[in-house]
Amino acid sequence: MEINLSQIYTCPHCQMETPHYTLVRREERVAITCSRCRTTSLVQASVLEDHQAWWEAELQQILSGLEEHDDEH
Ligand SMILES: [Zn+2]
Repeated sequence: MEINLSQIYTCPHCQMETPHYTLVRREERVAITCSRCRTTSLVQASVLEDHQAWWEAELQQILSGLEEHDDEH
């Protein structure tokens, strides 16, 4: 699985889910920078991928919830 340019990750400074830019990837270590406060975090690539998968599932749930709401008669 490829690391995208923008990753959703919990910023230790913002204390929330923020988009992060990938700075550099060396084997299983990825350096990412918060797009809000520019705090750089060093994380395991697998953790980042798991988090991204979790986030996408969460987003899908929110979107399907909206669709259900729209379909109400
Ligand atoms: Zn931040």
